[in-house]
Amino acid sequence: MNQSFTFEYQRLTYDELTPADQQLIDAAMQALDGAHAPYSHFQVGSAVLMADGSVVTGNNQENAAYPSGLCAERVALFAAKSQSKQPIQAITVVARNAQGEMADAFSCGNCRQVMLEYAGQQQEGLRVIMGDRTGHFIVLADTRQLLPFSFGSETLG
Ligand SMILES: [Zn+2]
Repeated sequence: MNQSFTFEYQRLTYDELTPADQQLIDAAMQALDGAHAPYSHFQVGSAVLMADGSVVTGNNQENAAYPSGLCAERVALFAAKSQSKQPIQAITVVARNAQGEMADAFSCGNCRQVMLEYAGQQQEGLRVIMGDRTGHFIVLADTRQLLPFSFGSETLG
Protein backbone atom coordinates (compact mmCIF):
# COMPACT_ATOMS: atom_id res chain seq x y z
CA MET A 1 0.00 0.00 0.00
CA ASN A 2 1.44 3.34 -1.04
CA GLN A 3 1.91 6.00 1.60
CA SER A 4 3.11 9.54 1.22
CA PHE A 5 4.94 12.04 3.34
CA THR A 6 4.48 15.77 2.98
CA PHE A 7 5.62 18.76 4.96
CA GLU A 8 4.97 22.45 4.84
CA TYR A 9 7.55 25.17 4.55
CA GLN A 10 7.70 28.81 3.64
CA ARG A 11 9.89 30.35 0.97
CA LEU A 12 10.33 33.99 1.90
CA THR A 13 12.33 37.00 0.82
CA TYR A 14 14.57 38.66 3.39
CA ASP A 15 12.00 41.44 3.81
CA GLU A 16 9.27 38.89 4.52
CA LEU A 17 11.22 37.39 7.44
CA THR A 18 10.43 38.58 10.96
CA PRO A 19 12.90 41.12 12.39
CA ALA A 20 14.17 38.40 14.75
CA ASP A 21 14.78 36.01 11.87
CA GLN A 22 16.47 38.78 9.89
CA GLN A 23 18.84 39.35 12.81
CA LEU A 24 19.66 35.67 12.91
CA ILE A 25 20.29 35.63 9.16
CA ASP A 26 22.50 38.71 9.53
CA ALA A 27 24.54 36.86 12.16
CA ALA A 28 24.95 33.88 9.82
CA MET A 29 25.98 36.22 6.99
CA GLN A 30 28.65 37.77 9.20
CA ALA A 31 29.88 34.30 10.12
CA LEU A 32 30.55 33.57 6.42
CA ASP A 33 33.71 35.62 6.60
CA GLY A 34 35.20 33.35 9.24
CA ALA A 35 34.81 30.22 7.13
CA HIS A 36 37.95 28.17 6.52
CA ALA A 37 37.19 26.86 3.05
CA PRO A 38 40.44 26.83 1.06
CA TYR A 39 39.48 23.61 -0.75
CA SER A 40 35.85 24.03 -1.79
CA HIS A 41 35.83 27.84 -1.76
CA PHE A 42 32.22 27.32 -0.65
CA GLN A 43 31.66 29.37 2.49
CA VAL A 44 28.84 28.51 4.87
CA GLY A 45 27.69 30.54 7.87
CA SER A 46 25.27 29.50 10.56
CA ALA A 47 23.67 31.14 13.59
CA VAL A 48 21.85 29.39 16.41
CA LEU A 49 19.29 31.15 18.61
CA MET A 50 19.00 29.79 22.13
CA ALA A 51 15.86 30.11 24.27
CA ASP A 52 17.51 32.77 26.44
CA GLY A 53 18.05 34.94 23.38
CA SER A 54 21.76 34.30 23.04
CA VAL A 55 23.15 33.69 19.55
CA VAL A 56 26.04 31.38 18.71
CA THR A 57 27.54 31.39 15.22
CA GLY A 58 29.67 28.96 13.27
CA ASN A 59 31.12 28.48 9.82
CA ASN A 60 32.51 25.61 7.80
CA GLN A 61 35.98 24.56 8.84
CA GLU A 62 37.67 22.48 6.18
CA ASN A 63 40.83 20.47 6.57
CA ALA A 64 43.50 19.10 4.23
CA ALA A 65 42.41 15.69 5.51
CA TYR A 66 38.89 16.28 4.19
CA PRO A 67 36.85 14.19 6.67
CA SER A 68 38.43 16.09 9.56
CA GLY A 69 36.57 19.25 8.63
CA LEU A 70 33.11 20.18 9.88
CA CYS A 71 30.01 21.91 8.51
CA ALA A 72 28.99 25.36 9.72
CA GLU A 73 25.78 24.07 11.29
CA ARG A 74 27.56 21.55 13.48
CA VAL A 75 30.29 24.03 14.42
CA ALA A 76 27.52 26.39 15.62
CA LEU A 77 25.32 23.70 17.22
CA PHE A 78 28.15 22.01 19.11
CA ALA A 79 29.53 25.35 20.31
CA ALA A 80 26.05 26.42 21.45
CA LYS A 81 25.27 23.20 23.25
CA SER A 82 28.71 23.02 24.83
CA GLN A 83 28.03 26.40 26.43
CA SER A 84 24.36 26.14 27.36
CA LYS A 85 21.64 23.65 28.20
CA GLN A 86 19.02 26.06 26.84
CA PRO A 87 16.67 24.72 24.17
CA ILE A 88 17.48 25.83 20.63
CA GLN A 89 14.78 27.99 19.10
CA ALA A 90 16.17 28.29 15.59
CA ILE A 91 19.13 27.77 13.31
CA THR A 92 19.91 29.75 10.18
CA VAL A 93 22.27 28.73 7.40
CA VAL A 94 23.57 30.74 4.45
CA ALA A 95 26.18 29.91 1.81
CA ARG A 96 28.39 31.75 -0.66
CA ASN A 97 30.08 30.06 -3.62
CA ALA A 98 33.56 30.62 -5.05
CA GLN A 99 32.20 33.42 -7.25
CA GLY A 100 30.92 35.27 -4.19
CA GLU A 101 27.28 34.57 -5.05
CA MET A 102 24.70 33.32 -2.57
CA ALA A 103 24.24 29.57 -2.92
CA ASP A 104 21.90 26.87 -1.67
CA ALA A 105 22.57 26.37 2.04
CA PHE A 106 20.70 23.11 2.35
CA SER A 107 22.05 21.23 5.34
CA CYS A 108 23.64 17.84 4.78
CA GLY A 109 22.25 14.68 6.35
CA ASN A 110 24.80 14.65 9.14
CA CYS A 111 23.79 18.14 10.26
CA ARG A 112 20.10 17.27 10.03
CA GLN A 113 20.79 14.29 12.28
CA VAL A 114 22.47 16.55 14.84
CA MET A 115 19.59 19.05 14.71
CA LEU A 116 17.21 16.16 15.27
CA GLU A 117 19.12 15.00 18.34
CA TYR A 118 18.76 18.37 20.04
CA ALA A 119 15.17 18.84 18.86
CA GLY A 120 14.33 15.55 20.53
CA GLN A 121 15.48 16.94 23.87
CA GLN A 122 13.10 19.89 23.88
CA GLN A 123 9.38 20.50 23.76
CA GLU A 124 9.37 23.36 21.28
CA GLY A 125 10.17 22.90 17.62
CA LEU A 126 13.64 23.70 16.39
CA ARG A 127 13.03 26.08 13.49
CA VAL A 128 15.32 25.91 10.48
CA ILE A 129 15.94 28.74 8.02
CA MET A 130 18.13 28.00 5.01
CA GLY A 131 19.13 30.51 2.35
CA ASP A 132 19.05 29.53 -1.31
CA ARG A 133 20.73 30.63 -4.53
CA THR A 134 17.85 32.93 -5.48
CA GLY A 135 18.18 34.97 -2.29
CA HIS A 136 15.09 33.43 -0.72
CA PHE A 137 14.89 31.65 2.60
CA ILE A 138 13.34 28.27 3.25
CA VAL A 139 11.65 28.34 6.66
CA LEU A 140 10.63 25.13 8.43
CA ALA A 141 8.77 25.06 11.73
CA ASP A 142 10.62 22.02 12.99
CA THR A 143 13.78 20.22 11.95
CA ARG A 144 11.99 16.91 12.46
CA GLN A 145 10.36 17.53 9.07
CA LEU A 146 13.77 17.32 7.41
CA LEU A 147 14.52 13.76 8.37
CA PRO A 148 11.56 11.38 8.30
CA PHE A 149 12.04 7.77 9.38
CA SER A 150 15.06 8.91 11.35
CA PHE A 151 17.30 7.16 13.80
CA GLY A 152 17.16 8.59 17.31
CA SER A 153 17.52 7.87 20.99
CA GLU A 154 14.06 6.28 21.01
CA THR A 155 15.32 3.79 18.46
CA LEU A 156 17.97 2.63 20.89
CA GLY A 157 15.30 2.18 23.54
ZN1 LIG B 1 26.45 19.41 7.26
